[in-house]
Amino acid sequence: MSGREGDECVALTLALSQWERGDEGERGDEWELRGFAGNVCYIFYFTSQCDMLACNRKKILEEIAAFRKESGLGLSKCVVLYRRVCVKLFRGGLVLYWNSEAECMSRDRLQELQFKRLRKIVERVYNNVPHYCRAFQAAGIEPGDIDSLEDLSRLPFTVKQDFRDNYPFSLFAVPQNEVVRFHSSSGTTGKPTVVGYTRNDLGTWSELMARCLVSAGTTRNSVVQNAYGYGLFTGGLGVHYGAELVGAAVIPISGGNTQRQVMVMKDFGTDILTCTPSYALFIAEVIEEMGLKKEDFKLRAGIFGAEPWSENMRQQIETRLGITAIDIYGLSEIIGPGVAVECEEKCGLHIFEDHFIPEIIDPVSGAVLPYGEKGELVFTTLTKEALPIIRYRTRDITTLTVEPCLCGRTHVRMAKVTGRSDDMIIVRGVNVFPTQVESVLLEIGETEPHYQLVVTREGNLDLLEIQVEVSERMFSDKIKGMEALERKIHTQIDSILGISAKIRLVEPKTIPRSEGKAKRVIDKRLL
Ligand SMILES: [Zn+2]
Repeated sequence: MSGREGDECVALTLALSQWERGDEGERGDEWELRGFAGNVCYIFYFTSQCDMLACNRKKILEEIAAFRKESGLGLSKCVVLYRRVCVKLFRGGLVLYWNSEAECMSRDRLQELQFKRLRKIVERVYNNVPHYCRAFQAAGIEPGDIDSLEDLSRLPFTVKQDFRDNYPFSLFAVPQNEVVRFHSSSGTTGKPTVVGYTRNDLGTWSELMARCLVSAGTTRNSVVQNAYGYGLFTGGLGVHYGAELVGAAVIPISGGNTQRQVMVMKDFGTDILTCTPSYALFIAEVIEEMGLKKEDFKLRAGIFGAEPWSENMRQQIETRLGITAIDIYGLSEIIGPGVAVECEEKCGLHIFEDHFIPEIIDPVSGAVLPYGEKGELVFTTLTKEALPIIRYRTRDITTLTVEPCLCGRTHVRMAKVTGRSDDMIIVRGVNVFPTQVESVLLEIGETEPHYQLVVTREGNLDLLEIQVEVSERMFSDKIKGMEALERKIHTQIDSILGISAKIRLVEPKTIPRSEGKAKRVIDKRLL
C-alpha cells in the first residue's frame, strides 16, 4: 500500500473508532468525522440519504479504490478527500486534488520551501537580467541580503511599463535557445507584453492548470470543451495542456461559432466547459434559442476567468446551464491562467503558493498590508525559468486570507477580483467597476445580463449611460412598465455607486455578444 493510501486508511480508521466510541456526539441527517494522518486532516462526510449509513469501513474503502481506478488518477496525485463521500460516490465524483502533497502542505513547510526558492530566484534575476541588477542596485540591495521571507518587501516592484521598456525579450533570464514558447498580450495600448517559457516552465504551467481543472471536478473520463481563444493569448493553450495532463479528452474548439459549440457540447458529451463567464452566458442564450434544454447536455462544471465577474453572474450561469461555476485567476506576466483557482467551497481562490508568493500592498504607499486588508495584489514567481518576475503589481484589488479552508487545501485564498483597476472608470470623481453595475442588474433580475456602460462628456460634466437589454416579453410590454423599471435601476445604481446614471433599456440582442472578453465600457470622452 502506498504512503498516501496508507494515510487515508489511518485517518479513516481513527475517525471511525472515535465514531464507534461515540466521541463525535449526536448524529443528525448529515454529519462529519475528522481523522488525522501525518499533518493532514481528512474530513469524512456522511448523510442519511445514502445506504452506506451503516458506515462499513471496508465498503467505503472499496468504493474509493474503485473510484480511483475508474477516474485514473494516480494514488499520489489524488485525494485527501472523502468530503461528503457517500453523496459524492452516488453522483460518481469525489472532491479531488491533483497534487495533495503540494496543495495540502503544512504552512510551515510551505514557507520553508518558499524561502529556499525565493533566495534562488533573486540570485538568478540579479545575475541574468540587467533590469533587475540595476533595480536592486538602485534600491541598495543584494541577493545575499535576503535572510527571510519578510525581506521580500525590500525588493523593488515590477510594473507593466518594465515589460514595455524591455520589449521584447530583455526581461528573460535564459538564452533564447532555451525558450520553447512565446505568448503575448494584444497590445491595444502601446507595445504588447511578451512572455516566454522554457520546457520546464510549460511543465509547471500544465501542473498548475491540472490542479485547477481537478479542483473543478475534472477527471480522466472528462470531456473538456475549451472555448478560450487559442493563439498568442494564454487562455487556450494553458487549459489545453493542463487538461491533457489530467488525461481528459480536450476539444480545442476555441471561441466563436456558438451554434457549432452547442452541437459539439451535446454530441461529444462535454462535461467541463472552459471560457470567459460572459461567453458562458452567451452559450446559455444560444442553447435556449436552439430550443434545447440543459438536460440535453452532460455539462457538470465550468471554469471561467480572464475577466472579472460578480457573484450574481455566477448564479445566472449556474442556473441557466445547470452546472457549478468555478472562478480561475491568472495573468500572462506571471504564467497565464492557473495562478489561483476556487475549490468547491467557492469562498476565495487558492493561490498556488509553492510557485508564487502573493502580497497585498497599499496601492499608493506601496507598503505591505496584513492578511485581511484590501489592497493591490502583487506576485513574485518562485519557479519560472524563462521569465522570473519579482513583485509584479497586478493592479487587481483584493484581500488575502490564510484561514483554513474546508476543502483541506492550505494555500492562501484571495477574494474574487471584482475589478481590475484597468477596467475601472472614473465618472465625476467616482470609481466605477462594471461588475458593480452587473451586480445591481442581476439583483433586480428583470433584465437580461447583457449591459454596457457608455461615458460621454458634455462641457465639463461626465455623463454615464447604462444600456441594458430587456427580455422580448418586457420589450413588447407597456411603456409604463419600462419606465418603472428604468427608475428602479436608476435608484439602485445611485444608492450603490453614489452617482446618477441615465438608464436606457434596449431591445433584446442589440448589445454585441463577445466570444472572448466582454467589452463592458465605451468611453467616448477625450481624456
Ligand atoms: Zn478550499
